[in-house]
Amino acid sequence: MFKKILIANRGEIACRVMRTARRMGIATVAVYSEADVEALHVREADEAVAIGPAPSAQSYLDIEKIVAACRQSGAEAVHPGYGFLSENEDLPIALEAAGVVFIGPPAKAIAAMGDKIEAKKLAVSAGVATVPGHPEAVASAEEAAGIAKRIGYPVMLKAAAGGGGKGMRVASDDAQLKEGFRLASSEAKSAFGDGRLFLEKYIEEPRHIEIQVLGDTRGNVVHLFERECSIQRRHQKVIEEAPSPFLDAKTRQEMGEAAVKLAKAVGYFSAGTVEFIVDDKKNFYFLEMNTRIQVEHPVTEMVTGLDLVEQMIRVAAGEPLPFSQKDLALKGHAIEARIYAEDPRRNFLPSPGRLIRYAAPQGEDIRVDGGVYEGAEISPYYDPMIAKLAAWGENRKIATERLAAALDGFNIVGVSNNLDFLSAILRRKTFIQGKLSTAFIAQEFPGGFKGVDPSPNEIGEAIAAASAMHRIELENSARGEIPESWITNLDGKAHAVTIVRDGAKLAVSLAKKRHEVATTWLPGQDLFRAEIDGVKASFRVSGIGLVYRLARGGVNYTAQILLPRAAELMARMRPKPESTRSRHLISPMPGLLVSLAVRAGQDVKAGEELAVVEAMKMENVLRAERDGTVTKLCVKPGDSLAADQVILEFA
Ligand code: ADP
Repeated sequence: MFKKILIANRGEIACRVMRTARRMGIATVAVYSEADVEALHVREADEAVAIGPAPSAQSYLDIEKIVAACRQSGAEAVHPGYGFLSENEDLPIALEAAGVVFIGPPAKAIAAMGDKIEAKKLAVSAGVATVPGHPEAVASAEEAAGIAKRIGYPVMLKAAAGGGGKGMRVASDDAQLKEGFRLASSEAKSAFGDGRLFLEKYIEEPRHIEIQVLGDTRGNVVHLFERECSIQRRHQKVIEEAPSPFLDAKTRQEMGEAAVKLAKAVGYFSAGTVEFIVDDKKNFYFLEMNTRIQVEHPVTEMVTGLDLVEQMIRVAAGEPLPFSQKDLALKGHAIEARIYAEDPRRNFLPSPGRLIRYAAPQGEDIRVDGGVYEGAEISPYYDPMIAKLAAWGENRKIATERLAAALDGFNIVGVSNNLDFLSAILRRKTFIQGKLSTAFIAQEFPGGFKGVDPSPNEIGEAIAAASAMHRIELENSARGEIPESWITNLDGKAHAVTIVRDGAKLAVSLAKKRHEVATTWLPGQDLFRAEIDGVKASFRVSGIGLVYRLARGGVNYTAQILLPRAAELMARMRPKPESTRSRHLISPMPGLLVSLAVRAGQDVKAGEELAVVEAMKMENVLRAERDGTVTKLCVKPGDSLAADQVILEFA
């Protein structure tokens, strides 16, 4: 076995490969660009080699620099991860010349599958069904129109060198085809330096189902069943699961056998994925083969109990596969969601920046593949993926519920992220029913993502949670009597609440319903974990004093507690613009400044106590909404405060 390997990648996949290497007793070498000096994969490696400037072309995509880093560190083998150089056959060729082992398939298999036209021809000759079409480069829009007439519209134009959904266009008539031809070929030329296009029948509302294969250098190839990756946005996967809720045992076996046949036809070894699209009659057609580990491999690991990276390393070291097809079985169900730094409400605009807060959920059947830490930067130079979150369950329903709960328990502050969007997908009826297709997102979220409408029960639970939080704040800070009823204003709607402590539980009575809340939450914690009516629930929390912002199940809530009498005064207050509020700590109501917990120049963390204001005989602790520096104190203890009066300023 190797003593030391180099990982020619960054982010979560570099960290994930290192995790397995460490378990196997293999030392790890990271490579990093100037943008990644502080990155997690550099911190987690036993040693790290700088390979140049931030742009990938000058660092992570530079083969000579990878080879030089091997020489410098004495690494015996290289794992390429996914993306970057993972599907460039020149890397294994250069490594071989330098006497370094490539932890991946043979160069000629990468080359054969790298060209989609060649790959399709290979599939045809191996007896694997492909999408009807014309598996030759098409020279002009006119020629394409002739072919489209023969195979029938709609058709899909695809780049022979394609990947990442680039150079792809759907056309329903000659005019769209002409336009699409021009756009797709120029896109392919600039993305891959190769403008060749071919034409396929466009399968409407298909599923994307892929087969994981694994082979050794002795010619043994097995398949590790399928992953369904139909939840896609712009032909890119968002949620993946195993097994597919659509396949029966017979189709599963046929697809597995087809994938193995194709892998054997190209002399494949290591891990790889054969992708198919599947129509509503369970006809499956070969799409392409990815000759590397895939982003979504964790779901396969969770339902087979295998470590794919370990198998890749063992195969590269010359070991035979320790099992055959009949030893493999599926156990339970696993679903993965890709968490990105992007803003779903702004057309998924990438949102690079610093992670002010990053706390991933934990749990026995929860898996987090992350490449960041709190305080780390999501760089604008690379893919904006923050982490992958996967959940396992005895069946699909349990796995989905666990994943949804884990999303609620994921706290990310500092960059926009798609947690709400992912939660919104999981709660859609069509998703729960397993009625998936690649058109799912376009159909379920026409016009983009605009948030989620909570159910009446969810609204009740949010009111109960905010009310419980406030009661706990009072218990932790107040001298004197704690009121048992008040108004909780949720998203502009007033709800009369009575809240009574009953031992470890809080009983929250609303107009029509009573909720029991059991929690160990303490003021300042940004995750409210509780059992509400006996069911586990987590809310992400931010907010100060009497205003709480909560998030759960893709829904964002703003709750405002209006204490008796204050309710009246608050009703007259004007809302303040966001910018003024964030730079100033403002008294939420008329009252007396009891104490200040900070001085000018002091750095404060989100959740830290800033001041105590007494009003209506109640003491209210005002806390920092986010990390920052106090620049100026505007009042002193003992001063009386007007509503909205500035107490202190932040930088
Ligand atoms: P890339 O290599 O760019 O990711 P793929 O060939 O893997 O491209 O296709 C990506 C996605 O595009 C598929 O998962 C599927 O959703 C869609 N797609 C590709 N070919 C077709 C087709 N002929 N009909 C319908 N959808 C297709």
